[in-house]
Amino acid sequence: MNYRHHYHAGNFADVMKHVFLVAIVRALQEKPKGLLLLDTHAGRGDYDLAAAAAGDSRPRQPEHPLGIGLLAARAEAPGEAAPPPAVREYLRLVRAHAPGGERYPGSPQLLARLARPQDRLFLCELQPDEFAALRRGLGRRPQVSVQPVDGYTSLRSVLPPPERRGMILIDPPFEALEEWQRLRDALTQGVNRFPSGTFVIWHPVTARADADRLGDDLAAQPGPPAWSCRLLVAPEAEGMRGCGLIIINPPWTFMPEAPQILKALGRLLRRNQLGETQSRWLRRES
Ligand code: SAM
Repeated sequence: MNYRHHYHAGNFADVMKHVFLVAIVRALQEKPKGLLLLDTHAGRGDYDLAAAAAGDSRPRQPEHPLGIGLLAARAEAPGEAAPPPAVREYLRLVRAHAPGGERYPGSPQLLARLARPQDRLFLCELQPDEFAALRRGLGRRPQVSVQPVDGYTSLRSVLPPPERRGMILIDPPFEALEEWQRLRDALTQGVNRFPSGTFVIWHPVTARADADRLGDDLAAQPGPPAWSCRLLVAPEAEGMRGCGLIIINPPWTFMPEAPQILKALGRLLRRNQLGETQSRWLRRES
């Protein structure tokens, strides 16, 4: 496992994923009952943006200026339309994590800030250094369980949760060829075990059609409602053109704001006028 998320921390893909995470968790929290927040591929939770640019052996082009950097600058620029509440709350949480902007919070830190006393976090991270950092950051909180386990197996071992309410973020590195197949199998098992859970799956959009295939497969199978959205900010030739989320059981109070959030992200994260957004229902309520 060579993947290190700190090179990508705060990039456009993190911003999209984290803004939607805030919106979805807040919508689920409109009901008072406690939630399980399961992060199957948690990462270290806290990223030093200067260290990411230094690289391991040679300097790297930092990715955060075209992610959180653009969004923060444009969201409050004179003449820009006011961003939706989820974008504003996301920015508030990022700034609460590091007021000077020198660090960026990963999904576990954002979830910890969003959690109410009745909510519970279960965080999985396999890479030993990332796991150690995650445990240092969040391991002592009573509501948080940090585990050095394969996140895909947690979909079997942790679901269904006793709370019967939950949000599951599945955010793999997509380095290994077999990742899509593992994701597909684990997702099927997870949804079978916890059909009312809200599953949020992040995926890259590249010239390969894997993400289309996953969406088409879901569309062809019976199951809970599933909505897909994408943000495309780079030309096709650049490898990763953009990224997307597939959301199974999106909360019904989230859906009216979801198109506005997506549109705002396209506007705030556009590069050279490219900020295309796409969305579609893969499956509707039956
Ligand atoms: N979710 C994080 C966020 O939004 O801040 C970013 C996670 S990063 C894309 C993927 C993480 O998954 C890496 O830290 C990697 O070490 C870890 N990882 C890879 N395979 C894993 C597996 N099977 N189970 C748990 N963690 C895994």
